[in-house]
Amino acid sequence: MAKKYRVGILGATGTVGQRFLQLLEGHPQFEVTALAASDRSQGKTYAQSCAWRLPGEMPAAARRMVVEAPRPPLDCDIIFSSLPGDIARETEGSFADAGYPVISNSSAYRMDEDVPLLIPEINHEHLALLDRQRELHPNRKGYIVTNPNCSTIMLVLALAPLHARFGIEAVIATTMQALSGAGYPGVASMDIIDNVLPFISSEEEKIESETRRILGSFTGAKVEYAPFPVSAQTNRVNVSDGHMAAVRVKLGRQAEVEEVRDALASFTSLPQELKLYSAPERPIIVRPEIDRPQPRLDRDAGRGMSVTIGRVARDTVMDYRFVALSHNTIRGAAGAAILNAELLVATDRINSKS
Ligand code: NAP
Repeated sequence: MAKKYRVGILGATGTVGQRFLQLLEGHPQFEVTALAASDRSQGKTYAQSCAWRLPGEMPAAARRMVVEAPRPPLDCDIIFSSLPGDIARETEGSFADAGYPVISNSSAYRMDEDVPLLIPEINHEHLALLDRQRELHPNRKGYIVTNPNCSTIMLVLALAPLHARFGIEAVIATTMQALSGAGYPGVASMDIIDNVLPFISSEEEKIESETRRILGSFTGAKVEYAPFPVSAQTNRVNVSDGHMAAVRVKLGRQAEVEEVRDALASFTSLPQELKLYSAPERPIIVRPEIDRPQPRLDRDAGRGMSVTIGRVARDTVMDYRFVALSHNTIRGAAGAAILNAELLVATDRINSKS
């Protein structure tokens, strides 16, 4: 049997950390060998420190592992980070300096010009930025790769095939985001029951800037941001998992509705060609029903890695509108980072330390 890469998870007890453990159970290339979290959890076993909140049992192999401090060295070849943004920068940087490939969910490094902000289906060529990262940080023995914000990933997966086929001139996106996106315990129940909250801190700015960075043109050393405007409004809704976005897009050229649907539904890319373990067969599923997508029915499509799109129609102000939905802690977080790691392995960018 092929040797597995040893993985350490920072923020292992949290919402995204638990999803990492669930998705990595039985993974053919990765095995979890280190867990880290705050001093509240350190020194305890994972079973003692973590209130498991996903359906099914806590992975048996994790139960007796002792939670450590998020400080190098950890006994692993790769770091997956799901730390809060405010502590991620220093901690992730210290692991990268110490020689670990750091694959991060947090926003701390996403906009650094030398850090790939990666969606393997969309901008795998941005991995060449790792050469630039080596030049700018001569003492860094490892590197940092990030995945985008959970809503950005969904939006960009939907926009990229349209951008490639028709060009894009403007985008307006209004999100309805699930509670698990705020971590645990997240939003107070008394604030969200019978309610919608029309503000998620920094979320609109992240969606607008990250989308333009990922869909920008790449010169080999630098990303030129896509020139079109992106306008985002974000709302927290009373749904457990699954972010949704109502999207309106102005295209660069005229297109029939069937062409738009076909561009979305037929989209596949490098992860599908390489048959990466976490890559969904269909990154985008276009549903014909008038009342789909819906979080409860569609968030698990493609084992949580597909974006489901429905309501594709002409728009009277922009050219087209549609509704997109994806699983925020799978395609939007842990699954995204694992797919990034699978691509890094497939392109020989990860070495085993042992
Ligand atoms: P969460 O449920 O609040 O979990 C936070 C984790 O970080 C816990 O394991 C916690 O450990 C640990 N932690 C907190 N303070 C720490 C400290 N000072 N030192 C070390 N560890 C510390 O949050 P989450 O939703 O999993 O989000 C984690 C990161 O992923 C955030 O940067 C978030 O923006 C990003 N993200 C989240 C989602 C999502 O859908 N939730 C999607 C994309 C990106 P203890 O249990 O010991 O306190």
